[in-house]
Amino acid sequence: MTTCEPRLHVAAPDELSGRVIAITGAGDGIGRAVALACAAHGAEVVLLGRKVRKLEAVYDEIVAGGGPEPIIAPLDLERATAREYDAIADAIRARFGRLDGLLHNAGLLGDLSPIEHYDVPLWTRVLHVNVTAAFALTQVLLPLLRAAPDASILFTSSSVGRRGRAYWGAYAVSKFALEGLTQVLADEMSGVTHVRVNAINPGATRTAMRRAAYPAEVAESVPLPGTITAAYVCLLGPGARGMTGQTVDAQAPRLPRPA
Ligand code: NDP
Repeated sequence: MTTCEPRLHVAAPDELSGRVIAITGAGDGIGRAVALACAAHGAEVVLLGRKVRKLEAVYDEIVAGGGPEPIIAPLDLERATAREYDAIADAIRARFGRLDGLLHNAGLLGDLSPIEHYDVPLWTRVLHVNVTAAFALTQVLLPLLRAAPDASILFTSSSVGRRGRAYWGAYAVSKFALEGLTQVLADEMSGVTHVRVNAINPGATRTAMRRAAYPAEVAESVPLPGTITAAYVCLLGPGARGMTGQTVDAQAPRLPRPA
């Protein structure tokens, strides 16, 4: 039964103890913060990302903080071959024999431009990294998720994946697709496995992607990634058992600024 409310969640120190959780885009931004939080709450974390240096820095931070030793799994979601996906699954199988959580966090913003002028190759790249790669990674890891007693798959959405907004192009379309993938997979898993599938919208968060999307914004007005991790811990952990097919906000909506 679901006992956690993601936006209000206060994670217990050992909430993720004994869980193996894989996170894409774990080297920076929200993925890095969630990886640190998962390890701080006891999880063995599989750090997936395209830049090994960044993953090594997160690894060092986790170990220095006394967390369980993570594993580093380099994977460029734009270029990865089937063999590389298989190798990730093989490595997790050999070390843990199962996977308790999979956070699809990596994402590409692409351009903010009108559909009429959107660059077609860039469109393909954004859809590939944000949607197709998440699908392919899920597919190859499903047997390991099924082997866990209570597994959680979490896709990363956005407010522009729920209501279309001009100029958000391929990024918005990719987030709509992830909301759809969440629902389709949740329905397929429901009643036949212990695998639950949800989507999370982190909300405005101070990262490189946010800066690229809103260059004129006062950065200090935007919450840091470390402030939203409890919702992720809640959804990846035992408190959200039984919850599936949902799309959740990590933050309360921001109030409009007074005129
Ligand atoms: P960042 O740009 O800070 O992080 C994005 C991550 O995705 C990085 O770790 C990046 O790796 C990784 N990534 C990008 N391309 C690839 C690739 N080809 N292969 C592997 N990894 C890749 O952004 P955020 O932390 O803000 O974004 C995290 C998620 O949250 C995204 O899905 C985003 O859409 C979503 N989101 C963010 C919001 C915000 O306000 N920040 C709001 C709503 C949703 P590298 O470090 O190597 O570039």
